[in-house]
Amino acid sequence: MMRRIDMANLLFKRFQRPFFIVIIFFLSLNQILALEVKWFGASCLTITDKDTRIIVDPFITRPSFWKVITNQGLFPDANLIEKYFGKGPKKNIILITHTHYDHILDLPAILNLYPNSLVYAPPETLQYLLLHKSPFLEFKAVADGEEISFENFKIHSFKIEHSSLPLGIKFSHGELNKTLLPPLGALDYKARNSNSFVINHPEAKILIHPTSIPRNYDFKEVDLLIVGLTGLNIDPLKKELLEKIQAKKTFAIHNDNFFYDFEAPIKKMPFFPTLVEFESKNLPITILKNFKD
Ligand SMILES: [Zn+2]
Repeated sequence: MMRRIDMANLLFKRFQRPFFIVIIFFLSLNQILALEVKWFGASCLTITDKDTRIIVDPFITRPSFWKVITNQGLFPDANLIEKYFGKGPKKNIILITHTHYDHILDLPAILNLYPNSLVYAPPETLQYLLLHKSPFLEFKAVADGEEISFENFKIHSFKIEHSSLPLGIKFSHGELNKTLLPPLGALDYKARNSNSFVINHPEAKILIHPTSIPRNYDFKEVDLLIVGLTGLNIDPLKKELLEKIQAKKTFAIHNDNFFYDFEAPIKKMPFFPTLVEFESKNLPITILKNFKD
């Protein structure tokens, strides 16, 4: 009897350490690789793993339609931004697709929260950062096909075309008027260059294509395709992008009515298309939590 207990003890002692090391290794590997993707309305997104958070087009202040069309000075809602972005990994990468107000209004407030962020954006974004005296660790102007690496992420940027208003009118296109001082009105934000992003992570490949105008990509498969339904006619987008790229999951953005309060359930932007039925949920919406689930 004694001998049998000794033997059991010996086996337990002999195997417990490697066994627990293996368990801890797999648990920590899972934590490092686990990705969470959330949508905050318009084209504002976060892609987060254990160490790093990517914030795309920071915009949750969502001023009213009246404030926008009368070009009233807009201030980021610092309390709202602290509430939704105040917690998270210490390393932040900010990706900007273009410099319209509904893509960068909250950028200065995000950088005040995280002055050690890397900003990867169209070159004209720097003018807005300097105007607002925003702190940042590093600014990189995006170039077509360029790659940056950051922790577990590899990010490529691609030039895309911004969709036009009816009659081919380009909304707020051009250069920032350098004589202006903050706060800028929505119409003071001008855009010239636009880009999409491909995000490679050990857990998943994600394409963020924030416009309804398609472009060719030199790959055919992604795990997640996030697509901006920014135009009334999305037939070319369906034919030339959605049918060409095999995506395990496709999620539509920028077709919500972003003139309404961030904390109210979302509504569809009048006249704008959807890919599937538009669900009136509260933001942020979790698009994917763990790709291996
Ligand atoms: Zn725009």
